[in-house]
Amino acid sequence: MEARGGPEVLRYGEIAAPPVGAGQVRVAVKAVALNHLDLWVRKGVASPKLALPHILGCDIAGVVESVGAGVEGVGPGDAVVLNPGVSCGRCERCLSGQDNLCPEYQILGEHRWGGYAELVTVPAANVLPKPANLSWLEAAAIPLTFLTAWQMVVDKLQVRPGEDVLVMAAGSGVSVAAIQIAKLYGARVIATASSEAKLAQARALGADEAVNYTRPDWFKEVRQLTGGKGADAVVDHTGAQYWEGVIKATAWGGRISLVGASSGYEATTPLSHIFYRQLSIFGSTMASKSRLFPILRWVSQGRLRPVVGATLPLDQAAEAHRLLEARQVFGKVVLQVG
Ligand SMILES: [Zn+2]
Repeated sequence: MEARGGPEVLRYGEIAAPPVGAGQVRVAVKAVALNHLDLWVRKGVASPKLALPHILGCDIAGVVESVGAGVEGVGPGDAVVLNPGVSCGRCERCLSGQDNLCPEYQILGEHRWGGYAELVTVPAANVLPKPANLSWLEAAAIPLTFLTAWQMVVDKLQVRPGEDVLVMAAGSGVSVAAIQIAKLYGARVIATASSEAKLAQARALGADEAVNYTRPDWFKEVRQLTGGKGADAVVDHTGAQYWEGVIKATAWGGRISLVGASSGYEATTPLSHIFYRQLSIFGSTMASKSRLFPILRWVSQGRLRPVVGATLPLDQAAEAHRLLEARQVFGKVVLQVG
């Protein structure tokens, strides 16, 4: 990426390989999954002062190519998945498992060069073994969205067995993960989506009910499906257009976790609903690096699975961005590299 702007600013070409320093691991990338973060960085909405040229890509699977001085426990030839969060590793936040609140927190492909490349360099702490039951493309489709959904469902909402969990916009990467994690924790999942095809795919992933949220009274359907009560917990990133509906679809005493605002940031919140009905709203971004360990264990057991919706070669990254932006793909858009 040599400028900020539309997909056309992505250029496929030669650039010097990133050096591998002490404590670092250089990985030959096999696959890199796209995230909306890539679009925001490309447009300049995220990290607007970033130095150019820049290499995008936070969700990476590949083979260790070389290791720097002092690296133990991982060596050339190892098949790995990369943890996208990089933090100092020595501050109070890092040492208490809240590394995604570290003042020096960075995300691969946003604050440092990422995986739209043949080689990427990361701290040794960011390397985990690739689950053997996954392809490279599937492995790359896991980290960011499953980490994000894990913090929302498990850490923030603390979903319990038997609860009604509403997952908005089921076709998105985070929601694909959230549906599965909420089911893993014993919840009854109500997913929303914008088309019949996506509603069917949400059910296939384990959603117990599916509601088309392009209908004006969609939140009433959620209430009907929960015996008039509303959802106990909600995973949302749909933004201003749906926010009032989300609040009305939430039960008295319910919790909402918010990880984005696709349709806009400037939403109206009827405050009476928040205090009178005692709602809790949790902002959420990423998760502790530690959460990738249980995620990969569940993936290895086949209880969580990534969904790859489209695959393109690395030199078609611009086209891949257009696909993601059009929101027509159910699951992850992944670039094949090596
Ligand atoms: Zn730190």
